[in-house]
Amino acid sequence: LDHGSGTLSEQDDHLTLKTDVPHSARIYDYWLGGKDNFAVDRAVGEAMIAAIPGMRYMAGENRKFVHRVVRHLAGRGVRQFLDVGTGIPTEPNLHQVAQQVDPQARVVYVDNDPLVLVHARALMVSTAEGRCEYVAADLRRSQSILDSPAVKDTLDLTEPIGLTLIAVLMLLADAEDPWARVAELRDAVAPGSFLAITHPTADFNAAEVDAAVAAATSAGMTLVARTQREVARLFGDWELVEPGLVPVSAWQPDHPVDDPHAAYYWAGVARKP
Ligand code: SAH
Repeated sequence: LDHGSGTLSEQDDHLTLKTDVPHSARIYDYWLGGKDNFAVDRAVGEAMIAAIPGMRYMAGENRKFVHRVVRHLAGRGVRQFLDVGTGIPTEPNLHQVAQQVDPQARVVYVDNDPLVLVHARALMVSTAEGRCEYVAADLRRSQSILDSPAVKDTLDLTEPIGLTLIAVLMLLADAEDPWARVAELRDAVAPGSFLAITHPTADFNAAEVDAAVAAATSAGMTLVARTQREVARLFGDWELVEPGLVPVSAWQPDHPVDDPHAAYYWAGVARKP
């Protein structure tokens, strides 16, 4: 961190940097080559790389999906996005992709990690014509997202939105019922809205993924790989856009992919009827 603790406390006095427990946002930042991570995050990140040698590649493929899907949705006229589990900023960020298509695009970023929000407020700057807002809220209490003033002020929920839950739902245990949490969000948005999800899976390489989950779990984290069927249920009765629920690298790829099963994520986009 080179932002200085003074700056952090000025921006958010509730912020306590927990540098003794690993945070998913900071581990992911480490895999992506960022510098907003601590020794405890790097230790878990490395243990997971030892389990899945392609982990950094996977993280990169996941980010590229964000870019493709936002371009796709903006191309289909979506002008407002709700991104839950945003992560530490990494360029291009979601709003930059959307605002490249339409500078008036509006984006609300939601995360439950205070460090993410500090960085997001500092680095995710909207165009003058569009808007970016930041909400500290927890997906496990999805109603608190919908009730937040930033969502109410920034998004018109009577018009279609793009709801993006990218590499976040694996951090909810089955007992926290990610299916119900996502259903609450689906129910709150207008017909014509889209839901984009990526989710890690053991379906392509059980040995590697099981070992990575074990590494995360032994560090005290919740991390759940899910099957294609379990991920499909997150979309409810919404209609999957082509090519369906597929390996992340195979979702409307920009160029031919050697081995779509080399990144262990399911990815899909569905439209509310
Ligand atoms: N969506 C981004 C970042 C993924 S990392 C991308 O794919 O590039 C997962 C992010 O989800 C982290 O920033 C973490 O802080 C956030 N997160 C984890 N659990 C959450 C929860 N219960 N509610 C909201 N955000 C959560």
